[in-house]
Amino acid sequence: MADELFFKPIAELGALLETKAVSSVELTRAVIARTKAVDGRVRAFNSYDEADAIAQAAASDVRRAAGQARGPLEGIPIGLKDVISVAGQPLTASSKMLANFVSPYDATVTAKLKGAGAVIWGRLNCDEFAMGSSTENSAFGPTVNPWDLTRVPGGSSGGSSAALAAGEAIATLGSDTGGSIRQPAALCGVVGLKPTYGLVSRYGLIAFASSLDQIGPFARTVEDAAIMLEAIAGHDPLDSTSFKADVPDYRAEAKRHQGPWRLGIPKEYFGAGLDPEVNAAVERAIAFYRAQGCEIKEVSLPHTQYCLDTYYIIATAEASSNLARYDGIRYGHRSKEAKDAVDIYFKSRAEGFGPEVKRRIILGTYVLSSGYYDAFYLRAQKVRTLIRQDFLNAYREVDALLTPTSPVPAFKLGEKSDPLALYLCDIYTIGVNLAGLPALSVPCGFTAGGLPIGLQLIGQPFAEANLLAMARVYEQAHDWRLKHPVLP
Ligand code: GLN
Repeated sequence: MADELFFKPIAELGALLETKAVSSVELTRAVIARTKAVDGRVRAFNSYDEADAIAQAAASDVRRAAGQARGPLEGIPIGLKDVISVAGQPLTASSKMLANFVSPYDATVTAKLKGAGAVIWGRLNCDEFAMGSSTENSAFGPTVNPWDLTRVPGGSSGGSSAALAAGEAIATLGSDTGGSIRQPAALCGVVGLKPTYGLVSRYGLIAFASSLDQIGPFARTVEDAAIMLEAIAGHDPLDSTSFKADVPDYRAEAKRHQGPWRLGIPKEYFGAGLDPEVNAAVERAIAFYRAQGCEIKEVSLPHTQYCLDTYYIIATAEASSNLARYDGIRYGHRSKEAKDAVDIYFKSRAEGFGPEVKRRIILGTYVLSSGYYDAFYLRAQKVRTLIRQDFLNAYREVDALLTPTSPVPAFKLGEKSDPLALYLCDIYTIGVNLAGLPALSVPCGFTAGGLPIGLQLIGQPFAEANLLAMARVYEQAHDWRLKHPVLP
């Protein structure tokens, strides 16, 4: 099975395409066939357009034959989380609200991938409007974890991680507001990278919490993540929060840096609630870096205990504002029962949004309302500054931080029915979003029961190349990436 095309990394497939050992059409057909064989069980896709994918692949083969291949992503099938616009294709955010919506234009990341020659392959399930940590909040039903079909793939980008792990795409994109790339990557045994706030354009991404959202890649290897990041990063005049900076050659940089690095272990990230097998795997990874000559230092991020509260004030406030646009008038679901204009708003929103989205809108509206704004929202903004300061203080002594990505491995579907229990899944990932930092999750082993475990590396602003290099040194010394879930 490991020889199957759909389990190969981009870099290897690139060589096969280059030497014409396989064509993009053959590769794309292999991915489509695999998807048809397993997605009835994994349920990672919300939609795909086979004919369109084959046509893109055929165009790629024509370019290559003409000597016009555009780089490492030429002819490679990539899946996108269903919150990223692809012109002419459905875009649902896994919500009933947008069940019949078709994107009028490409997101900047989509346009960039197309420009790099990639084959855009299908839209992947997620928690409704990216709110959740298990993909169980999708209006279209949950995606499951390919390593154990009774368990969740993580979330909110669970379709992106599960599809990749199951061989239904060669790489995917997700979005990360509080951990939605790193946590599902950890739970599905793949690499997931959340870029520095501002590195990747969000134009064409359905907004959840605008001061936190970032798009980033899921990939089989660190090198593939570098290739993907390089393709999507860079300034975009269409996103006012996108940063003006040159995009480095991440792939070359990740190979060039060899360490040793000064690595910080935040003591607050190893407390109650951390699964012992996850802890042990991360401890082994720390020992590995120490053996490589890295300086390992315990550091403190004293405001960690406020991350969850701060996040759930800021994220819900921004979500309540962003989701006001789904009014049943301009686009999206419109209630058939409505009698007048006001009734359209009420009934369309009541019918279109699921329970978690409604909970967030209510919370967010509350913390922004007059009298409560100062007590909650403004206060949370101040605590957010303290949280960022914690990280920047730590970076005076260390180059990066090492932590578990998720406190627990993949849990059973339906196991965490209390919203707070699910919110606690993000305990190690949300601080990064509040601080606007880059971070990635790289596979670091399996539990005795065969569930993947992820190691999180948190870097300094715009130090993605360094992070990729650190992850690569670890990855190359282990063979976790060569293991694939068995889906008979
Ligand atoms: N699980 C977090 C939430 O529910 C983060 C989601 C995300 O990063 N999109 O808000």
